[in-house]
Amino acid sequence: MGTLSGAWEDKAQPWHEIHVLNCQVCGRLIPQRTWRFIDPDFGTILACTPPCETLWYHYVRARQAEMKASPHDGDGASDA
Ligand SMILES: [Zn+2]
Repeated sequence: MGTLSGAWEDKAQPWHEIHVLNCQVCGRLIPQRTWRFIDPDFGTILACTPPCETLWYHYVRARQAEMKASPHDGDGASDA
């Protein structure tokens, strides 16, 4: 385990009362508490468990960064 920066957050927060949340890392439903951490580039990430923060930094983050860098690949934009 590395250094985790997140913290548990109760679902009793007003902004949480909207709907059921899905973990932004693994996609599972977040049952009760949200593991909330801040990524320097992506902002607030809502996850289901602390290990998901580790997973985020080791795997998911890189994929998200790629998608962020190139949302569309050749959608009529390159017309040189
Ligand atoms: Zn998760």
